[in-house]
Amino acid sequence: MRDVHLFDPAARIDARHDLLVRGGAVARLGASGTLAPDGAEVVDAEGRLYALPAFFDPHVHLRTPGQEHKEDIASGTRAAAAGGYGAVIAMPNTTPPIDAPEVLRSVRDTAAAQAHVPVGNLAALTRGLGGTQLTEMGALRELGALGFTDDGHPVADAGVLREALRRQRECGGTIALHEEDRSLSRGGAMHEGALSAELGIPGIPCASEASMVARDAVIAGCEGARVHFQHLSCAASVRAVAEAKARGVAVSAEATPHHLLLTEDAVRELDTRAKMNPPLASAADRDALVAGLRDGTIDCVATDHAPHADAEKAAPFVQAPMGTTGLETAFAALYTELVLPGVLSLDVLVARMTAGAALFDLPRATLALGADANIALVDLDAEWTAGEHGWQSRSAACCFAGRRLRGRVLLTVAAGAVAYRAPSLTAVAA
Ligand SMILES: [Zn+2]
Ligand SMILES: [Zn+2]
Repeated sequence: MRDVHLFDPAARIDARHDLLVRGGAVARLGASGTLAPDGAEVVDAEGRLYALPAFFDPHVHLRTPGQEHKEDIASGTRAAAAGGYGAVIAMPNTTPPIDAPEVLRSVRDTAAAQAHVPVGNLAALTRGLGGTQLTEMGALRELGALGFTDDGHPVADAGVLREALRRQRECGGTIALHEEDRSLSRGGAMHEGALSAELGIPGIPCASEASMVARDAVIAGCEGARVHFQHLSCAASVRAVAEAKARGVAVSAEATPHHLLLTEDAVRELDTRAKMNPPLASAADRDALVAGLRDGTIDCVATDHAPHADAEKAAPFVQAPMGTTGLETAFAALYTELVLPGVLSLDVLVARMTAGAALFDLPRATLALGADANIALVDLDAEWTAGEHGWQSRSAACCFAGRRLRGRVLLTVAAGAVAYRAPSLTAVAA
């Protein structure tokens, strides 16, 4: 890459350089215009394009095995690469769930053959995601599971969670929790508040999530264990995480672009693309999530990319499945809505979009010399409308569809190889 603005705050890199990738690694950095391409393809960034460490998404649904009409590993990782992601972690709530060694082995083989960016896996924490019987955690770890989750379902039984945390001591891995008290959320289709009352749609109160976050932070603290809270959606949960961290409990948390940017108002027209679990909440909740992301209470951004077939999302609001896609819009949406107005610095956004790796014991992408090449080349000035050229994901159900966004990913290098190249980039490749 010639004359590219390298921006990697964690490595204290913020300058225009030539960057040479060879053998899958950042082989040389030199002053702009000084490096000979040595036979490599040249991308001329004209001092204008930014090279960022490729993003890491610790929470996506690739729907393999069994739900390939929604997404598969090839289409889901194509969407990831198009969004600047260098690696993702896939959730195990598939059909069948990834709750046994043979299922994990098979899905990892498929990913090795089809994925455009590296895919890590969380295995199910309980058999059949049923919440009662723990999976063979040790065997699943040996086959490469980065950790465990029943995502889509809470671990309702506190005793089961405690037993899992005790086993984690022996086998390692991160336990990630979808926090929801079904006795509070059951039947709900949106955030419980004035709008749900007005629309006559059953609501899900914030207490459903926040009470479970608080409970599980206490259990993790008592066990001296480590837990990761998935897709925080409300102020009370952010407070519970902040309090646990202040007590020295080893908790971490993620938030999604949709919870950071949207509110329940997006549901007013009964647009099913804005129906997700946990639901979009109030403006105060959104603001608390943004503050938590800024101050580090929330460690990282995760998209919870949850594709559904368009026909499924065409159902009436109350019946439609929960979930929005997010990989292709995450960076641009957050850059447009938080960085450009000055709410969040680009430093912090890049940090939070790459920090997820460390929470699952993986190396964080960096532009430092010698590192594996994991790079998102971004045009921060490019304006586009989300979805205007279709989607790489099999699903068009994106809650940001139709929005004007700034910041476009032009090229993604993942684990040393080009994983995505925007059609417009050919013009600058020599
Ligand atoms: Zn979930
Ligand atoms: Zn999820």
